[in-house]
Amino acid sequence: NADAAMYHAKSSGRNNFQFFTPELNQWVTDRLRIENGLRHALEREEMQIHYQPQVDLGSGRIVGCEALLRWYPAEGGPIPPDRFIPVAEETGLIHPIGLWVLDEACRQLAQWDAEGAAEIRMAVNVAVPQLRRHTFVEQVAAILARHRLASGRLEIEVTESVFLDPDAQIRETLHNLTDMGVKLSLDDFGTGYSSLSYLKNFRFDVLKIDRSFVSELARSHDDMTLVRAISSIARDMSLITVAEGIESEEQQRILNELGCNLGQGYLFSRPIPASEFRRLVMPAS
Ligand code: C2E
Ligand code: MG
Ligand code: MG
Ligand code: MG
Repeated sequence: NADAAMYHAKSSGRNNFQFFTPELNQWVTDRLRIENGLRHALEREEMQIHYQPQVDLGSGRIVGCEALLRWYPAEGGPIPPDRFIPVAEETGLIHPIGLWVLDEACRQLAQWDAEGAAEIRMAVNVAVPQLRRHTFVEQVAAILARHRLASGRLEIEVTESVFLDPDAQIRETLHNLTDMGVKLSLDDFGTGYSSLSYLKNFRFDVLKIDRSFVSELARSHDDMTLVRAISSIARDMSLITVAEGIESEEQQRILNELGCNLGQGYLFSRPIPASEFRRLVMPAS
């Protein structure tokens, strides 16, 4: 793989002829294309948000959704967030793009409210560099005010990577967000730099149990044990658990039995455009 090849090219020092492998060349070209394209993606209106429901595992009711960014460059096929978000983080483009996602998701939520939809929560993914900006909290407050949304309607999802190097600004941002009433969600729980101490040091509201614990659940006694333990800790700490990547009714049933509160996954719906999601939260007319 190209990342591994890049690593070897770098670590082999002066033997830089290794740099020019065809796959590395392709990697560099793709990377440059993403970087250049990202600079104009917003103004060219190539970005869209899809919404995926978060469902109460007991009742099946939709209680929230997650905003997931989609990029459809004018030329070439769509590029998945796992490929362009890291580039956006490295180039700083995550700041304008991330603010656009927050603003657009909140605008959409307020519009559904105005149309009489069920009152749901909006979860938005936020990258670590965004939390390092001292202006971030003010910007979130301004967005909520602009769309006249109560702060508790917004949930900010961060991954465990925030704890890799939790500098003073990150701590302050997370504390100010929770003081403001915004909900904090720990995404992909169990896959990163897991340490239970940060559950103590930060006031999370939601734990998202990573898909890797869910996919084999029906066959893996270990995964069942882990999910049961995570749910039990979460309940004792008054955290809500959301299981990610639920694809079967069997997984839903087991997760519900293990004490997990909410779920998200293809079983309920893939991430879908706002126009489709709207039908899921609008009362039947
Ligand atoms: P995530 O926040 O953990 O989002 C969950 C991912 O799992 C999404 O991938 C979603 O489409 C996928 N997924 C949901 N249900 C299922 C399922 O049942 N089965 C399977 N196999 N997958 C499922 P997606 O949309 O490609 O996003 C990938 C990642 O990109 C996200 O992971 C998140 O870390 C990042 N991302 C997406 N949008 C944003 C954004 O606006 N800002 C930032 N900073 N990151 C974002
Ligand atoms: Mg997420
Ligand atoms: Mg996740
Ligand atoms: Mg993820």
